[in-house]
Amino acid sequence: MAYKYIDNYRERGARKQLVEVLRKKGIEDEHVLEAIGKIPRHYFFDETFWNQAYKDIAFPIGEGQTISQPYTVAYQTELLHINKGDKVLEIGTGCGYQTCVLLEVGAKVYTIERQEKLFERTRVVLPHIGYKAHFFLGDGSKGIEKHAPYAKIIVTAGAPFVPDILLRQLKIGGLLVIPVGDAKEQKMVTVLRVGENDFEKVVLDTFRFVPLVGDRAW
Ligand code: SAM
Repeated sequence: MAYKYIDNYRERGARKQLVEVLRKKGIEDEHVLEAIGKIPRHYFFDETFWNQAYKDIAFPIGEGQTISQPYTVAYQTELLHINKGDKVLEIGTGCGYQTCVLLEVGAKVYTIERQEKLFERTRVVLPHIGYKAHFFLGDGSKGIEKHAPYAKIIVTAGAPFVPDILLRQLKIGGLLVIPVGDAKEQKMVTVLRVGENDFEKVVLDTFRFVPLVGDRAW
């Protein structure tokens, strides 16, 4: 049976409630909250699990991967301070929900996924539901040199360290947001490129991501 993209009052109501949950948890950026309130997150779930889509939880999406928790998506997006037209590299496309949030807040998105099945599925689904990004298959721990420099880079999987090669793909004034830690938990880290060889690092809250697997990763 073909998947049905239906978004009616029940889902829209659940989305409004999710926005209020995120607001209470400390998300303040109205553009980010608006994006969460607009994107039908249930489209990223099997229809059997639509009732899980507007809970503030991560959820399995197949291939041993997860759709990130809405709070985590909002938190990382808020940190990026996206300006309209910012060129953003997203590492770890997954199902593409975070990609849609980045697009809604005005980014031009280059997104890379290492798992072929997810890559194939997401690059078809996103344009189908109205979201256009540039999709790449490969090891994002090395970034995508060809399209650098980026205004912002977001990593949506847990890294053992900040890959230097990603910092070199930021423009001056550009910002990287990446969870760094061990297999159990990671701290959200931001790195601002303030000069050719100058970077400012800030360590923030604790999260739990699936691992970033690759040449400059686990
Ligand atoms: N962004 C997604 C969302 O909106 O829910 C969640 C992404 S999921 C938590 C992390 C993704 O990173 C997985 O799909 C995983 O396959 C991918 N990944 C892990 N290592 C990677 C790498 N080196 N390059 C690209 N993708 C990678």
